[in-house]
Amino acid sequence: MYNYNEALSVLEQQGNLRQLPTIEQQQKYLSTPNQQQMLNLSSNDYLGLASDAAMQADFINAIQSKALPFSSSSSRLLTGNYPIYAALESLMGERFGGRSALLFNSGYHANLGILPAVSTKQTLILADKLVHASIIDGMKLAGCAFVRYRHNDMEHLEQLLKKETNRYEQYIIVTESIFSMDGDVVDLNTLVQLKARYQNVMLYVDEAHAIGAYGKSGLGIAEVEYCIEQIDFLVGTFGKALASVGAYVICSETIKQYLINTMRPLIFSTALPPINVAWSYYLFEKLPQFTAQRTQLAAVSGYFRTQLAERGVLTPSQSHIIPYIVGDNEACMQQALQLQKRGFYVLPVRPPTVPVGTARLRFSFTASIQENEINQLIAAL
Ligand SMILES: *Cc1c(COP(=O)(O)O)cnc(C)c1O
Repeated sequence: MYNYNEALSVLEQQGNLRQLPTIEQQQKYLSTPNQQQMLNLSSNDYLGLASDAAMQADFINAIQSKALPFSSSSSRLLTGNYPIYAALESLMGERFGGRSALLFNSGYHANLGILPAVSTKQTLILADKLVHASIIDGMKLAGCAFVRYRHNDMEHLEQLLKKETNRYEQYIIVTESIFSMDGDVVDLNTLVQLKARYQNVMLYVDEAHAIGAYGKSGLGIAEVEYCIEQIDFLVGTFGKALASVGAYVICSETIKQYLINTMRPLIFSTALPPINVAWSYYLFEKLPQFTAQRTQLAAVSGYFRTQLAERGVLTPSQSHIIPYIVGDNEACMQQALQLQKRGFYVLPVRPPTVPVGTARLRFSFTASIQENEINQLIAAL
């Protein structure tokens, strides 16, 4: 028998033991048993909608007379396909310029299931070195050939495309738009140009950190860069800025129908509760209205990045996810604890999640954070 207890002790000795934290949240604050009221600087509630009690009350009020069960009791392909699913897909398809939308239970399900469904033995996946774990798992399950290109290195990607050209039936380039750990932004227009220059190339872009938070109507970096139409698989989650649960892909109607026929996490899992999908609909419908929140998010993030730059602190970030690279693991842990003691809830991120020697404090801002709080944070840093 494998000794699981010993394996856990080894993790603990290495300082790598993961534990579920005991936390309580009050709007933008968070507390733990030994630490009261810290400003939450590790949240994915980028627009502050998840903690907006008034909006939740309005939603509850609006749905009172509607039949929206707390369970769909089945996969969508059997009896779980409540009308609210198609309503949200139709709304999203319209907003994304007349394309098709398909909903999933989570971003993890989406990334785990789409690549295996659409790839063939004659497919080559080219993925950024820093893509999310769910995409890596999807590539592995796809079972086709894949290569990783250096993070955000478009020249390296092109070299690989050139080298592999005419050797496969199709190529799928996979990236995030805003990267989880570095907070930098992909150059979507270059990807679109590469797609046009080489044969049989499709683009797969995960906008998990961007949907809701960027773009005039909140549709993400693809909206900012005017290239929604050129992206074959535009994936996003409802779990972050959209303050709900679930995920989607924007794609062609053919791909949508093909996924319905082949994507295992869609076919073999109980669909999200209709009430959750109705909440996603409620928020997505209002998404263009949250301009003030998007502006505030960009302002506080920009302010923090400028403050860091003025102090000579380098960060790769171009977004609201801002790593403060400490380098040494232990020093990073200590700084995170110090900041927590001073009322700022920030988490250390260490290898193997990030490359060796780049342990970092990972700040993730929301629209609820004010400039004076950033000033206090800078002073504490
Ligand atoms: C959070 C995240 C996911 C997972 O989405 P969930 O809906 O939380 O499962 C996928 N991709 C990226 C890049 C993410 O940051």
